[in-house]
Amino acid sequence: MLNNRPPDCIFCNIATSLLPADIVYRDHNLIAFLDTHPLFPGHVLLCPSEHYVTLLELPVEMAATTMTTLQTVAKAVESALDAEGTFIAINNRVSQTVPHLHIHVVPRRRRDGLKGFFWPRQNYRDPAAKEAVRDAIEREIHKLIANS
Ligand code: AMP
Ligand code: ZN
Repeated sequence: MLNNRPPDCIFCNIATSLLPADIVYRDHNLIAFLDTHPLFPGHVLLCPSEHYVTLLELPVEMAATTMTTLQTVAKAVESALDAEGTFIAINNRVSQTVPHLHIHVVPRRRRDGLKGFFWPRQNYRDPAAKEAVRDAIEREIHKLIANS
């Protein structure tokens, strides 16, 4: 069943062929295409064809096929670009510039310059602060499981 597509969603419009893209894969559920501004050549975006904004909205029935296709795309990117590995990432709302779920698959090589791309890491103030965070997340997980 089709969900609501915002008419101006770039990735919906790619999925419905209204906009062009350098497509590397498509099936009934998913589409993968080259990012127009790649971190490195071979940077691919894997998207559900239907409109979901973040991973959190993706129906659970889509999870297995998305993960399986993600593995295939990542293996293909590694082989095709002769990469040593991949960086796989999703921006959910914060830093998300296209509000249609997309998984970045970026070919990586050691010393490729992407080191330091992310934020500096922090330490917890003390073990109690760490435990408070661990406990809060654990409680939320149990609540979500109980309500599912
Ligand atoms: P994010 O910032 O995580 O939302 O990533 C959005 C990505 O979409 C960026 O890496 C853009 O370069 C890429 N992008 C934007 N428009 C297009 C397009 N029409 N075709 C392919 N990639 C696009
Ligand atoms: Zn969309």
